[in-house]
Amino acid sequence: MIPCANPAAQYLASKAAIDAAVARVLERGWYVLGDEVRAFEAEFAAHVGVAHGVGVGNGTDAVLLALRALGVKQGDEVVTVAHTAVATVAAIELTGATPVLVDIDPVTFSIDPSKLEAVLGPRTKAIVAVHLYGHPADLDAILPIANAKGIPVVEDCAQAHGAAIRDRRVGSMGRIAAFSFYPTKNLGAIGDGGMVVTNDDALAASVREIREYGWRERYVSAVPGMNSRLDELQAAILRVKLRRLDADNDARRASAAAYTAGLADVGLVLPVERPGMRHVFHLYVVRSSRRDEIQRLAKAEGVGTLVHYPLPIHLQPAYAERLRGADRLPETERAALEVLSLPMFPELEADDVATVIRVIRAAVAGTRAAAEVEAR
Ligand SMILES: *Cc1c(COP(=O)(O)O)cnc(C)c1O
Repeated sequence: MIPCANPAAQYLASKAAIDAAVARVLERGWYVLGDEVRAFEAEFAAHVGVAHGVGVGNGTDAVLLALRALGVKQGDEVVTVAHTAVATVAAIELTGATPVLVDIDPVTFSIDPSKLEAVLGPRTKAIVAVHLYGHPADLDAILPIANAKGIPVVEDCAQAHGAAIRDRRVGSMGRIAAFSFYPTKNLGAIGDGGMVVTNDDALAASVREIREYGWRERYVSAVPGMNSRLDELQAAILRVKLRRLDADNDARRASAAAYTAGLADVGLVLPVERPGMRHVFHLYVVRSSRRDEIQRLAKAEGVGTLVHYPLPIHLQPAYAERLRGADRLPETERAALEVLSLPMFPELEADDVATVIRVIRAAVAGTRAAAEVEAR
């Protein structure tokens, strides 16, 4: 079986260095928010191209803490998309604010800037722009609309470590940004982890307080806080993997280029990279109206695929009938029926890419033949 993602291959690719980093932390005896976290915060912030990194417990908390640092609270509205990991919307609701949904651009799968202005109102306190699948959201169009109204943009970079618009990495263009280090992300821990990054000194200080009980000085809570800390083991491992991130993203891009060449004429809608943008292919997502059948045929031939995401957030039981803007999301609902993620991870071998291409081509042909029989 060729899996869709393969975090164990990531470990094996750096096994000696990761094992040494783990041993170093175990022996040092300081396990949460220590030297490894401080070093990783500085190294990761430098990679993004911002002044501050604040390590937190996971990506959901990173979005939550970014919003809380901006002062988002109950009664406010935060605009985002319904075609994303549910974490984006869950984090907004954890602040007490109401998520307001805007439809996606069917090419980038991110906020459609032409539909953004219509959902902004006096209660809008932030816009969460998600860089989905590794392709940057259209910040060239989104930021001017937000700036004109004085609304801060939070970048959700959980799927886009290393992606860029021209010479600027994602995470460095909005007011503040959130990353996840869940094991399958482009930069993944051996467990949970996340980071908030920003150039704003005051916002960074605020996130540092909120992540640990609201402490400004130890044992004295200056603001209401929580516990969302990054641990030393994860930070030490992430420092090892950060050194490979650019090469890993290049490997993803090479596999993506091979997929695109091998599937160009088969009748699937393939991912695109907008001019000036660097796609880091967290996922390689194709579209087809016969998605379910293609997935079934591929599985029978040993090719694992996944659907990111099968049900838009506004149609999920926890959120149905509750989210604002849910009545005008036609592109979101169409995408959920058509998207299919092919195997994609840095260690994916060229032979396996060739196998996936062969199997997907045969599966598409198989569904087409079946459709023709039905039509007769
Ligand atoms: C993974 C992900 C998150 C949440 O990260 P966790 O570390 O799983 O909490 C948030 N947003 C997006 C777009 C994601 O893909």
